[in-house]
Amino acid sequence: MAESILSAPYFHNEEAAYAFVEARIWPHGPVCPHCGGVERNRPMGGKSTRIGTYKCYDCRKPFTVKIGTIFEKSHIPMRLWLQAIFLIASNKKGISSNQLHRTLGITLKSAWFMSHRIREAMREGNLPTFGSGGGTVEVDETFIGHDKTVKPKGQKKGRGYNHKNKVLSLVDRSTGRARSMVVDNLKASTLLPILQANIDREARIMTDEAGQYVHLRLHFRDHGFVRHGVGEYVSQEDKSKHTNTIEGFFSIFKRGMKGVYQHCGHHHLNRYLAEFDFRYNNRLALGVNDTERADILLRGVTGKRLTYQTTAR
Ligand SMILES: [Zn+2]
Repeated sequence: MAESILSAPYFHNEEAAYAFVEARIWPHGPVCPHCGGVERNRPMGGKSTRIGTYKCYDCRKPFTVKIGTIFEKSHIPMRLWLQAIFLIASNKKGISSNQLHRTLGITLKSAWFMSHRIREAMREGNLPTFGSGGGTVEVDETFIGHDKTVKPKGQKKGRGYNHKNKVLSLVDRSTGRARSMVVDNLKASTLLPILQANIDREARIMTDEAGQYVHLRLHFRDHGFVRHGVGEYVSQEDKSKHTNTIEGFFSIFKRGMKGVYQHCGHHHLNRYLAEFDFRYNNRLALGVNDTERADILLRGVTGKRLTYQTTAR
């Protein structure tokens, strides 16, 4: 029988947890975050020294691997961070702060804080343009929750989609990757610059028949669409014309948001999107298992802390 992943020492022992994180963030040995020194960093011993503390003999300052990462200024033990990262990375629908609070035995406030920072580490910067080399990109939008920043304008409450959060997603069929973002509205003039910034002009775009996509043929190599309004999900004359891949992505996202993250405000939605994009882009079908996914997440913890500041509740 294979050994349980949960029995790994880095989930239980603080030294092992630090060593595990250091091996990923400093693959070539410790780097001083104060002066960038790599040559003269030595572990600090002594009973009163915190685990994982090094001293840089270039600038004479102490440091740990937490500086400049999502772990900075957190008093939560590293082994619990690793447990939380594994749980969030391995659950297809995500995991609520409440569940994290109960499973890890930490306060709800700590659980909430950790899950937001971990989500920040899942944010993928600078992904290559979708559909490069003439690939196919499916584009669709979905509505989620209630956008309280939108005031109903003479319109009866609950009618239409105006008061809902609007999410635009793209899926590159060749790479199997998704990218999602919150948009203010679904006007062609709003969506086109976003699509142009994220999709190669040589790409073939697939959408449904919605009016905002009608002119895409002018801006990309090709545009195919299916008429969902009349029950067409795959074009009869060309079976490659469909948006089934992105529908599949949305169904995972919606089940996760409904089941786990019931109360998601407009300003947090981009973080949840980053989380669902991340898991989808590192899913088993693309050859990434749970442990590898947690590892990839862990490598994303650096350089994210400064963008985190707006998550205070
Ligand atoms: Zn230094």
